[in-house]
Amino acid sequence: MKRMGITACGSYDDAEVIRSLERLLAAAGGLEWVEPGMRIAVKTNLLSGSAPDRAVVTHPAVLAALCRMLTARGAIVTVGDSPGGPFTEGNLRRVYRLSGMEQVERAGARLNMDVGQRDASFSVGKVLRQLTCTSWLTDADAVISCCKLKTHAMMGMSANVKNLFGAIPGTMKPEYHFRFPDHRDFADMLVDINEYLRPRLYITDAVVGMEGNGPASGTPREIGALLAGTDPYGLDLLCAHIIGLAPGQVPTIVAAMERGLCGKEPDWPEISGDPKPFVMKDFQNIRQLRGIEFGDHMPGWLVPIGRLALQARPKASRKTCIGCAKCGKVCPAGAIAMVHKYPVIDTEKCIRCFCCQEFCPEGAMKVHRPLIARIMNPR
Ligand code: SF4
Ligand code: SF4
Repeated sequence: MKRMGITACGSYDDAEVIRSLERLLAAAGGLEWVEPGMRIAVKTNLLSGSAPDRAVVTHPAVLAALCRMLTARGAIVTVGDSPGGPFTEGNLRRVYRLSGMEQVERAGARLNMDVGQRDASFSVGKVLRQLTCTSWLTDADAVISCCKLKTHAMMGMSANVKNLFGAIPGTMKPEYHFRFPDHRDFADMLVDINEYLRPRLYITDAVVGMEGNGPASGTPREIGALLAGTDPYGLDLLCAHIIGLAPGQVPTIVAAMERGLCGKEPDWPEISGDPKPFVMKDFQNIRQLRGIEFGDHMPGWLVPIGRLALQARPKASRKTCIGCAKCGKVCPAGAIAMVHKYPVIDTEKCIRCFCCQEFCPEGAMKVHRPLIARIMNPR
């Protein structure tokens, strides 16, 4: 049975997180299935090496609380992710250090150092029938996903379903962006990864989420909740509801609905706990998805004009750009040229994956909405 829940957690104080997580898991999916000696991989969100209070990564206090509960049941727990950049021991060590992951080791878990990868077949995948996964996840007896709730330029929101993109080795991610340049295909690919790996449990760290220019350069925002469950699509629907996104603004939710994996709104009777106190009416989302959907309702000849007039695209701020050229290096489409130390984007080549925005170390690359789009949709 699919179960999910939400509970209050007002801070990252260790004792408070443990109490909240125990209460939540008792009601929402639990850990009854964990057996002594079981090798459990906890897939966290370590997008980049970043101090936990910046809300880029899943907070180590949540991971540590989970690891304590798992090791108390005799499980052998490994925590990890494939962050942006090369999937190497050196990069992993750097990211773990900067993100405060020693707290996880103190809780009895190990940090993943296996940088192996496996090619896999997934014959029932909708768009992804062959994939390459990090082997520390595929080799585990069970996977638990533990994500951070953040805004995301390409997918509207980064939460439970999006978190599993980190199963793809770091340097291979741009290839997947290029393989699935259409947002709907990309969302289907993310759903396929979830269906392939099938984590036993999903946990969402929404104690402090991220709003604004997420998922790497936004502003931390207190939400005060932890969520958990066995159904990533239902949980994402609930997350979207909390931060004020309609289901149609999150392509992964749309993709799950089209496959019958997700209802049209959260299944309230199935949720343990009351989501109402956590709903944020003024949460700052990234309004760019109009560009994804407008083509469905326009005559073909109008689409190129509509795209130019309405479609959001990346644009660097001249005030904050330091000319480091990292955006050009991560761009899977080769659409960025540095001109006088400023990134100029070839809009014909750009596939709107927003990797440049995600990995800009200064938060200088923003999601730019054209004037007409802003007039039509002011928020
Ligand atoms: S990564 Fe950011 S700071 Fe560096 S050149 Fe690109 S926009 Fe500028
Ligand atoms: S310019 Fe940015 S959004 Fe466009 S393809 Fe390159 S990385 Fe993706």
